[in-house]
Amino acid sequence: MRKQIAAANWKMNLTLQQGEKLLDDIIALPHQLSEHQQAVFAVPFPYLAMAQQKIAEKKNVFVAAQNCYNKKSGAYTGETSVEMLLSVGVHHVVLGHSERREYFNESNQFLGEKVDICLANNVTPIFCCGEALSVREANGQNEFVAKQLEESLFHLSTVQIQEVVIAYEPIWAIGTGKTASSAQAQEIHAFIRSQFAAKYGDAVANNISILYGGSVKANNAKELFSQPDVDGGLVGGASLIAEEFNAIINSLK
Ligand code: PEP
Repeated sequence: MRKQIAAANWKMNLTLQQGEKLLDDIIALPHQLSEHQQAVFAVPFPYLAMAQQKIAEKKNVFVAAQNCYNKKSGAYTGETSVEMLLSVGVHHVVLGHSERREYFNESNQFLGEKVDICLANNVTPIFCCGEALSVREANGQNEFVAKQLEESLFHLSTVQIQEVVIAYEPIWAIGTGKTASSAQAQEIHAFIRSQFAAKYGDAVANNISILYGGSVKANNAKELFSQPDVDGGLVGGASLIAEEFNAIINSLK
């Protein structure tokens, strides 16, 4: 079975002390991750080492950065390289979140370069895609997402593409309390998988985890994750509450 993943995105929230407490609280709650299940915590850069230390002994639990740069090293003040992430034990990074696309003008091509440097260093990209409300209202979501995938990912080899985790996040559902229905999520996740199948073949497409993001909560996670092409979630708001996120972990299939 392909990996089922509950990924927390803390965004720019919490102090170090609050972050430590949240992780301690989640770790203390009862959850059991089977071999094909993972929990991932995408925490702010200053907390990566702390979080990594806390989960180091935990099986199938990982820390992720929320971004990285597309260059190896050098005069890029304020940026963080993949090598730096590896040096604190971090092997996952969220790329192309809609907030980065919107506020920091990250283009599909630029994100493709970030994906490349991650894969060249055995770092797993959690690649976000998804449409705005206006696109959904015009029924243009499939075309929009297909273009994001094509321009950022379709240059990858068959081996490389299977190292990428996809997070489909309709922008109109992020932080709004509006969740895509499980049928809507399934429909576009199946479409995304069909795009990978057309490019790389069915076997490869069936290996790629596609997470849903957008107001996932403890009370809707099970229904969303039960859909055949929904392989877990990328979770913002609800990942800041220990019991909520733990229930979301426990909703993985
Ligand atoms: C996100 O941050 O990626 C997200 C989906 O946020 P929320 O769960 O708060 O909608």
